[in-house]
Amino acid sequence: MNDANELPRTCDRCKSFELYKTQVSSGGGYAPNYLPQLGTKWFAAPNFDVVVCAKCGLTQFFTPAENRAKLSTSSKWRKL
Ligand SMILES: [Zn+2]
Repeated sequence: MNDANELPRTCDRCKSFELYKTQVSSGGGYAPNYLPQLGTKWFAAPNFDVVVCAKCGLTQFFTPAENRAKLSTSSKWRKL
């Protein structure tokens, strides 16, 4: 599972500490799949950790480490 310590504690935009997090599916099926080929289970899309700043609304998505580990070997992802 994702290590919560990887998530930000302050907002990059307004420097507020009023951050809230949740987990949502990265999609697939009838919805867009935002993390293609990064799942660790064939039947389920990976989850994002979503962090929202209550003060300014900046919203950030974070991909768990177990899914990021597949980036370099996946044909769907190209290193910038
Ligand atoms: Zn903010």
